[in-house]
Amino acid sequence: MQIQQFVTEVQRQPVFRQDGKRAPNKPLTVLFALGLAGRCQRVIRYADAEQRLTELLIRFGPPRDNPKPEQAVWRLRDREHRRYRVWYIENQERVGTVGDDDPRLSDLRAHAAFGLSDEAYELFAGKPHIARFAAECIADELLPDTEREELLEAIGLGGEDFADATQAQQADLELHLTEREQVLSRRSRRYAAFAKKVLAAYAHRCAICSVAPKLGERHFGLEAAHIRWVQADGPDTIPNGLCLCRMHHVALDRGAITFDRQLKLDISPHLTRSGGFDDWIGRYYGTRLQAPSRAENHPHEQALDWHRSQVFKG
Ligand SMILES: [Zn+2]
Repeated sequence: MQIQQFVTEVQRQPVFRQDGKRAPNKPLTVLFALGLAGRCQRVIRYADAEQRLTELLIRFGPPRDNPKPEQAVWRLRDREHRRYRVWYIENQERVGTVGDDDPRLSDLRAHAAFGLSDEAYELFAGKPHIARFAAECIADELLPDTEREELLEAIGLGGEDFADATQAQQADLELHLTEREQVLSRRSRRYAAFAKKVLAAYAHRCAICSVAPKLGERHFGLEAAHIRWVQADGPDTIPNGLCLCRMHHVALDRGAITFDRQLKLDISPHLTRSGGFDDWIGRYYGTRLQAPSRAENHPHEQALDWHRSQVFKG
């Protein structure tokens, strides 16, 4: 197995349903195991992983109370007529199933362990830089850029600098790196075009806090956020964009805030009221975002509905 095959195989799992609902649990579960592999851990007992995996799915998945990590761990396994080369479950035969191929939780906790398959593990064992490279490619499809490094950190692959890899490891990846550079540069050109029109429509000020920093005649510090993520086929249009300062952009992508159909700000009850809370966000609760002057540029209701149901930690 090659690195690109591993990435492609993981990416074959759909991350969004047809109606745009997020379904990232399987790739997130593979990423969890990929992080372990980078640190030479071949398998982990389900009982030992359950808590951490649950937290990962809650943090980076869509809003829900119980993300059911057992389903992802179980359904990634090989089944009749379907071969999934990256996954391994130990003592699979000792786990009974109920309903629509759900594992019996008590069996899973008592007997099962999971991790990457042998051939996938070989690619990444003790090579955190290579694991990080694969994780980045997979994370691209799951989350907006503002969240990607957080995810890599959460699976234990944050802060790995590829420049620290051995020469042999770098040579292994040379071809992939060139491809990745091209992907990143296409993405950055696309973002620049989107940001230009969104920032202009909002007259270069944050739609929440109105900051509009300038040095001389030049604006800085503002970003264009997609309300419905690019990963979920959100378009690069002004009604799917918001001009926000960095802090409010991250808060939006993380699901700490959202807007209702009247464009009023809502704040997640899970948001910690840490230093300056009232100043940076609390004071804006229930206030209307500062929409562009032209009505056709206002955020679309469908995009706002998607964000509230799929991202907002309500
Ligand atoms: Zn702001």
